[in-house]
Amino acid sequence: MGIRFCCGTVALVITLFILPSTSNPLLGPLAKILKPIGLICSIVFYLIAIFKIIQQDKLKRESVFEIRNEPTSFSNKFNTVHSKPQNFNHSQVIDKPTSWSLKLIKDLEWKKFEDLSVAYYLEKGIRAEATALGADGGIDIKLYQDDSGKPTTIVQCKAWADYVGVMQIREFLGVMTHEKIAKGFYMTCHDYTPDAKQIASANKITLINGDMLLMMIKRLNADSQQRLLALAIEGDYTTPTCSRCGIKMIKRTSKKGDFWGCRNFFKGCKQRLSFRKIDHASS
Ligand SMILES: [Zn+2]
Repeated sequence: MGIRFCCGTVALVITLFILPSTSNPLLGPLAKILKPIGLICSIVFYLIAIFKIIQQDKLKRESVFEIRNEPTSFSNKFNTVHSKPQNFNHSQVIDKPTSWSLKLIKDLEWKKFEDLSVAYYLEKGIRAEATALGADGGIDIKLYQDDSGKPTTIVQCKAWADYVGVMQIREFLGVMTHEKIAKGFYMTCHDYTPDAKQIASANKITLINGDMLLMMIKRLNADSQQRLLALAIEGDYTTPTCSRCGIKMIKRTSKKGDFWGCRNFFKGCKQRLSFRKIDHASS
């Protein structure tokens, strides 16, 4: 926006002051031709800059509106009356769970689901490393189950889709082949389609759905379960994280419907995520 204003001003200054002041016999006629072009350029730059200001102002007003509306809608879902906090997020408003349930696993945003998965393997005594944010290349966690120093299993976490389909499993298989790792775990808070299960069973991929993860957690000792619960419900555990910036996203509305957008939108981050069923239910 600032650049467009500068370009407009530079075009205007050249047109009004620099071009008319030239006394060169060759440049004189050229200046006459360039004058209207310069004026048109400066007007176009100014118009684009004004349009951008109006557009960004509209988006800012929408964001404020969304934040102010969230507490009321969410309290309806959970039949709880709360005052409107300034920096609202879902998990601050709802009463946090005190024990493990399938609902809690399904409510977790993708980053929290990944963190929980890493913590689960660590509780099991397995060396587990999460890959860098936004750069997983199809791998979310690497497991080291022997002393070779090389990962023995790769893990992919999917907390967003209702059902993981055959396409996702094929992609994961491609990553396993590329990484030359024969063992893979695919973890989701929901479930898998029948053909996804078929492909997985034929290729040494262990599929873990929400029910299985709950069972796996409940098989741990009481202390481990509590540690995992504390990690899961710490902070805002339902609002998704931007995979690029690592900050919480914000609800936005477009003509195509509601979605999660990055708070750094004005700094150039265009990351967005679709609403889950629980997000629609809380709107
Ligand atoms: Zn972002």
